Amino acid sequence: MGKRLQNQKGKEMNDITDWCDLCGGELRPGKTTLEIWRGEELLIIKDVSADVCQQCGEAYISAEISEKLDRFLAEHQQHRPERYIAVPQYSAAQAVGIY
Ligand SMILES: [Zn+2]
Repeated sequence: MGKRLQNQKGKEMNDITDWCDLCGGELRPGKTTLEIWRGEELLIIKDVSADVCQQCGEAYISAEISEKLDRFLAEHQQHRPERYIAVPQYSAAQAVGIY
């Protein structure tokens, strides 16, 4: 399940059925959680409106929301995060051994 930003040029409302670029499944309005790396920092943005593939879960974000996210990310330090979560990190050696 991934997330990709996609420009939906010329698309008016959500009344046109779209199809997933990856698997051809049907896209329906839904929400996705974005995980965005900014250097060493991981930001999470929850419940972003997106068209979500009913088959593989791929989420497509509209150009409008994508622009808003870009603006937010440029100045996100000015906002107080809703909460902080601890994320476990493992080395590749732990996960798959040393190759
Ligand atoms: Zn799909």
